[in-house]
Amino acid sequence: MKPRMRPQDWYSVRRLYDEVTYICEPHIQEFYRCNIWHVRGRDRDMLIDSGMGVVSLREWVPLVTERELIAVASHTHFDHIGCHHEFECRAVHAAEADLLAKPTRENTLADPYVTDEIFDALPPEPYCSKCYAVKRAPATRILEDGDVIDLGDRQFEVIHTPGHSPGGIALYEKATEILFSGDILYDGPLIEDTYHSNASDYVASMERLLTLPVRVVHGGHFSSFSGERCRELITGWLDAKHKTI
Ligand SMILES: [Zn+2]
Ligand SMILES: [Zn+2]
Repeated sequence: MKPRMRPQDWYSVRRLYDEVTYICEPHIQEFYRCNIWHVRGRDRDMLIDSGMGVVSLREWVPLVTERELIAVASHTHFDHIGCHHEFECRAVHAAEADLLAKPTRENTLADPYVTDEIFDALPPEPYCSKCYAVKRAPATRILEDGDVIDLGDRQFEVIHTPGHSPGGIALYEKATEILFSGDILYDGPLIEDTYHSNASDYVASMERLLTLPVRVVHGGHFSSFSGERCRELITGWLDAKHKTI
């Protein structure tokens, strides 16, 4: 039997630079562990993704309740939207609005991924992997490519990046050249074969990301990386594709 964690020990919170804070669930194994990003703005804050939802983010990470906040979904797989229902203001791309409103174990990929195996230590009672499901959290704002999320003194452009999933988005701040990339691009094994992945969309999204001036990338999983590493990852990925076509 794996040990159970106490709710107060479930999340880890680390303040980075650029008023960006990294929140994660360290007892989930690395490959399944989503990065939750909190961005402070002058007028409001932004949360990008919200983890599995097995422990309340609002209750145990006070940072997310300090200010008015928009909770954005980079996309709607279970590991990214579990606590969205805790926030009043919720945004998702139009292509996955239905999923956020009517999540099931299948359409969020909880089935087949969520088993006790993905944890080093289990979430607190009454969590159970077989009954795990994401709570519905209908969007209050529907995003389209080119929309801007305005935090007052900071503006994040929505870049639609389908491929991993149809409504995947990246968020790009031109002034700082920060890119929040979701699951389309991170420094680890990418997932291109879910039930709603699309190979040609994936290539087009990668080609588009390659055109952006980027200084730092905060992805949906694994560690953050530099603009140089970003270009290296994308060109390597595209080269491998062109070789197999
Ligand atoms: Zn995903
Ligand atoms: Zn993910």
